[in-house]
Amino acid sequence: MDGMAALIAQLKARSSVTSEQTSDACPICGGSGYILRRDEKGELFSRECKCEVIRQNQRRIERSGLKPLLENCTFDRYKALDPWQKSAKETAEKYVDDHDGKWFFIGGSSGTGKTHLCTAICGELMGKGVPVRYVQWRSDIPPIKAKINDADAYQAAIWPLKTVKALYIDDFLKGSVSDGDKNIAFDLLNARYNNPDAITLISSELTIDKILEWDEAIGSRIAERSKGYTMNLRGKQNWRLR
Ligand SMILES: [Zn+2]
Repeated sequence: MDGMAALIAQLKARSSVTSEQTSDACPICGGSGYILRRDEKGELFSRECKCEVIRQNQRRIERSGLKPLLENCTFDRYKALDPWQKSAKETAEKYVDDHDGKWFFIGGSSGTGKTHLCTAICGELMGKGVPVRYVQWRSDIPPIKAKINDADAYQAAIWPLKTVKALYIDDFLKGSVSDGDKNIAFDLLNARYNNPDAITLISSELTIDKILEWDEAIGSRIAERSKGYTMNLRGKQNWRLR
């Protein structure tokens, strides 16, 4: 069972569980969503259970509009007919098991399955209880950019994107690429670059070389963190991985 199927099965199971009927509730927390622990000093503290992270992700997915994508864009449904597609899928699957502190970049022309593979990765990560947030560059970034002259409003809008454990940026730099885009791209990606735990998935119609040409500081941060997981798909003939 892949991660998304496991996630859906778990959510289906949970939706039929009431507070009195905890026998098939989460075996880790008993269904409360939180785990109580004592630290070395004996102080009681609580932390979120993985099942609570999964529920929160599910709510986030429902709000984000990624849900219909997640159901269709699984690894099982990715058509890997040509060798380059097989390699792309293998790289994405390898990343799922090796994502800790690492980024994933997939660039190149549309119709190469970039969003499918990134979404499949997101589904698998959420199945592992990793908090994931999805943004579409062209539609989600302009409203944040519009707040640039109001420091508090800007910070409130960008903070969740800077701090979420896993951020998937779809169609990075799609549309206009003004200085305003450059500033917000650097602000966001530099904050994530400086956090060794933050993982960032980026799909773009631009290859990493084009992004480096556009802005060296931004391109080099992406290239460094996604070393081994940078793919540039330029159609069947011209595919390379580094
Ligand atoms: Zn739990």
